[in-house]
This record gives sequence, structure tokens and C-alpha cells, in this order.
Amino acid sequence: MDNTARFRTRAVHAGHQLDPATGAHAVPIYATSTFGYGDAARGARLFAGEEGGYFYSRLSNPTVRAFEEKLASLEGTQDAVAFASGMGAASAIALTLLKQGDEIAFIAPLYGGTEGLFEMLTRFGIGVWEAHDVDDLRERLTERTRLVWVETPTNPTLRITDLRAAANAAHAVGARLVVDNTFSTPALTRPAEFGADLVMHSATKYLGGHGDAIGGVVAGDAETILELRLHGLRHVGASLGPFEAYLFLRGMKTLPLRMDAHCAGAEYLAGALAARGDLKVFYPGLPSHPGHALAREQMGGRFGAILSLDLGDFGAAQRFLDHLQLFTQAVSLGDVESLSSHPASTTHQLLGEEVLGKHGITPGLVRLSVGIEDPEDLLEDVTRALELARRTPAAAGR
Ligand SMILES: *Cc1c(COP(=O)(O)O)cnc(C)c1O
Repeated sequence: MDNTARFRTRAVHAGHQLDPATGAHAVPIYATSTFGYGDAARGARLFAGEEGGYFYSRLSNPTVRAFEEKLASLEGTQDAVAFASGMGAASAIALTLLKQGDEIAFIAPLYGGTEGLFEMLTRFGIGVWEAHDVDDLRERLTERTRLVWVETPTNPTLRITDLRAAANAAHAVGARLVVDNTFSTPALTRPAEFGADLVMHSATKYLGGHGDAIGGVVAGDAETILELRLHGLRHVGASLGPFEAYLFLRGMKTLPLRMDAHCAGAEYLAGALAARGDLKVFYPGLPSHPGHALAREQMGGRFGAILSLDLGDFGAAQRFLDHLQLFTQAVSLGDVESLSSHPASTTHQLLGEEVLGKHGITPGLVRLSVGIEDPEDLLEDVTRALELARRTPAAAGR
């Protein structure tokens, strides 16, 4: 497909071609572990990398390849490589590109699993340190820092990082910038345009969009992606299955449409809730948010669909969650269905009070992943739950 086509066109078409064997219009699920060489000489050429082609699905599979091509097209990078989960993608980056004595720096906070991975890396002689913001990062970067890792907006307090400034700081010491673009998706932010070297996703979230598959992917320059495939994928082995790749391909066709609906719903909800004046609302789309102007520039005039509310104390947060009807209480985010969570007692529980306080993850904080339902219904649900949370004690046994 013509890669100069516009974003929505690429979301539909990139990575697709009529199946060469049958003409099938949808990308078939190639449920096969291995691929016949045809003859011995070709087998030798495939293994030597002298000829392109599939030979074992841990390394590459046609359905998975179509997903990789679509994502690379949407992120505007040369190539991409898929993994069995977002954490599989993150581990492959770290294990492929770092060695003993190297350092990894990140702007806190990151997704809990990523911070957990970094903690494991310290056991192998890799230094890990966190910066509060880009200025702090720039001051402390050294030649030993090989990777700089950022998320924007962050989870769950929606802080915004200036990607161009982070890329410049990383490049000044020869480090690579890795951006976890799960929250924004390429429909809003394409980090490579701001200088990011590698862009990773938990495809589980918005790329899939329907809460029915776990997967991950990394996009970047062809040489680094090949290195990730030949080491981080081949030797670590978190390979995406063709069934999941099929679901992601299908989900990504509507990514731009879904993101429009997600963002519009979140903006409507955040605006209405902030206007009440009795709640603290965290959402980059609110003019009062410290990252508002930067987010507007970096996210194409939209602000994502995750917002957090501070209800003041743990009891009120719990009662509010228990009274919501349209927001399922569950981890994950980015599904067409709205989801809700209480970070301090669930996903961020292990961090301890001091670290929670530092990141502003208070006992009253509730995170909402706004789905694509009618925003009026969502606001009615939230408003009713807020009134009930004020009036009634926690509903027993719900
Ligand atoms: C969910 C998530 C991950 C981990 O992805 P999995 O697919 O669950 O392994 C990484 N980063 C962010 C920002 C996430 O939300």
C-alpha cells in the first residue's frame, strides 16, 4: 500500500494484501509453527539470512507480520516487531540493548510492570535510576546511560513529558529514547516524529481495543528492530500468536475512529466533573492541568481517554467505585467498555505509602478508562455514584 496515504487510510489498509495463495481478503490466521523450506539449499539460505521468508513462528509468522507492518506504518517508523505482551516487548528491549555496567534512566512514574522489570535488571549489574522530569534527567545523564524510558501521559496521574526535550537530552549522551506510547497511541502521538528511537506498546490496550487479547509491539529503525527480533524475540521467546495478531489487525482498522470517540467522551466527562468544583480531576485536556499546552501540541489537539478523580479519602473512593454501573472495576484500559480502578489498593499497592505520596497516588484517587459509550450515560453514571458515595456507607458484598 502507498505509505503516503493518510492515517485513517493506513489504519485500514497497511499490512494487508490479498492472500497470495488464495486471494483471501482478510488476513488469514496462519496457525502453523513451522514452514517447509522447499529444498535444502533454500533452508540454508533462509538460516543465513540471505533470503527472506518464514521458517519458524517464534521468529516470524505471516499474520503477525501483517500486524507489525500496520503498526510501523501508523507510527511512521521503518519497521516493528511484535511480542506476546507489553512486558514481553519491554523485556526484549532491555535484554537486547543493555549489558552489565550500562544504565537505564526513566522519568517516574512508569507502568508498574516496567519498574518491576528494571528492578530485576539491577540483579544483573545494570544501573537504574529515576528522574522527576526532563530537567532533572538532563542534569544526571552520563555516558553510561544507554536507554531513557518515558511514558506520556503517565499512569494514573496523567503527567505529560516533553518528548522532543527528552530525546535531545538522551541523544546528547548517545543514549536511545524509548517511549511507551500505550496511553496516546499513534492516533494522537507518533513519538518518532519527536525524536524517539523506539516506540513500544501494550497492544492489549487501545491497539486491540476490545479487551480480548494480550500483546505487545516495538517500532523503530530497521536495524534495531532486526536486532530485537534476532535476540530479544528469538532468544527470549515472548512471541505473539497468530490468533492474537489477527485480533489486533482487526482492532487497529478502527483505532482512529475509536480514539476520536474515547477522547471526546473523556473530555466531556472531565470538563463536567471539574466544573462541579468539589472534586480534584486529573486530565491533560483541562486548562488547569500543568501539561495542558504541551499535551495539546504533542497529542494532536486531543488528550487521551484516561482521567483520575480524587474523592478525598479511601472510603469515599471505594463507595464511588461500588456504585458505578457502567465502569467495570478491573485493571487494564483502552477497551471500548469503560473501566475503573483504585490504584493505591490494587495496581500500585506494592509501592508503599511514601512512594505513593511522592507520585500523588492518594487513597482517594480513582482512575477511569473512558470507553466509547454515550458520554451522557457515562456522566449520569458517575454523577449518581458520586451522590451515593457521599450519602451511603460502602455497599456490603458488592
Ligand atoms: C498494560 C501496560 C503495559 C504492560 O503491557 P501488557 O500487555 O499487560 O504486558 C506496559 N505499559 C503500559 C503503559 C501499560 O498500560
